[in-house]
Amino acid sequence: MHITQKQQIQGYIKAKPDTGYASFYPTSENSLEGLNKSLTFSSMIFARQSLLVLQHLQQLPPEDRISPLLAALELTELKVSDLLLETPDTNEGKQLSSFCSKFKTPLRKALEQNHYFDHNSPWRLHLFFLNSSDVYMGVSHINNGSPYPMGIMRLRMPKSAPSRSTLKLEEAFKTMLSEDEQQRYLCNGMTAVDLGACPGGWTWQLVNRNIRVEAIDNGPMDQALMDTGMVKHLREDGFTYLPEKPVDWLVCDMVERPMHVTRLICRWLVHGHCKHSAFNLKLPMKKRYDMVMECREYILDELSQLTPKYKVSIRQLYHDREEVTLLILQL
Ligand code: SAM
Repeated sequence: MHITQKQQIQGYIKAKPDTGYASFYPTSENSLEGLNKSLTFSSMIFARQSLLVLQHLQQLPPEDRISPLLAALELTELKVSDLLLETPDTNEGKQLSSFCSKFKTPLRKALEQNHYFDHNSPWRLHLFFLNSSDVYMGVSHINNGSPYPMGIMRLRMPKSAPSRSTLKLEEAFKTMLSEDEQQRYLCNGMTAVDLGACPGGWTWQLVNRNIRVEAIDNGPMDQALMDTGMVKHLREDGFTYLPEKPVDWLVCDMVERPMHVTRLICRWLVHGHCKHSAFNLKLPMKKRYDMVMECREYILDELSQLTPKYKVSIRQLYHDREEVTLLILQL
């Protein structure tokens, strides 16, 4: 709702608890390109995927589901460069996953035979199945949506990483930074501080990119990670520690009240102790959206007085639990 209000698109939302999806119905005429421009996926904090619905097909015949889908696509005159079969991420949705993987090959062949694929097309085709005969057909622009089915980036746990938390920072870097940004902002020889670092999953991601880390935590760090010689472990309080020299990155995964962490990160940025930051905010049981908005407003307000400017991204990632991940980049 926040985004649609901000972009002044009139419409209403339909959502039911525990269904795993929400639909927005614009009440005025909007072109596909217009909606694509207004509804920016990167600003949707809690959505893993977003698609612009072309048609809702509710009675696909089990003996031939493909023909009605091709007929619906024909009307749109669109070509697509990719095909994603998706379901809500619920227990019922999970039961459709083997149906989706079986259906994908014949559907892909039919799309190829009927010339619906064009690798230069900016549109991806999504089929979002509620059950095997009820499907939303939609598209997303390649620059505005997740390329992964259901927005889930499957990451393999690196063998030498000390904790599963490592996947949170890996997903954040890989999904919240473009490839160009990853090259520009995560370079050999940079420096970082990791607040609440133990046993070292986040530090591992930085060291893996040849970034030296000061790891702040009273707990024990993983020995193999310490043996790389890239990490200095300091048993200090993350809320009072400050580095001798400014660092490129401040990362923080301390379990603390969200505003407490937000204020800490802003202090580092405002006083120039770090350029960029990646951190998690553990959300309360209630009023999660309000809490995220409160922290976001605080950050934008603090950073608005600074030059150079900053880019702030907030997402609840697949590997996050009751938390959101924030990335702040100095531009
Ligand atoms: N990011 C780590 C990883 O990938 O392995 C996991 C961090 S764990 C969720 C949170 C850590 O924050 C704990 O190790 C805890 O000791 C540390 N912590 C909590 N409060 C702290 C504080 N005030 N100063 C330093 N560390 C703190």
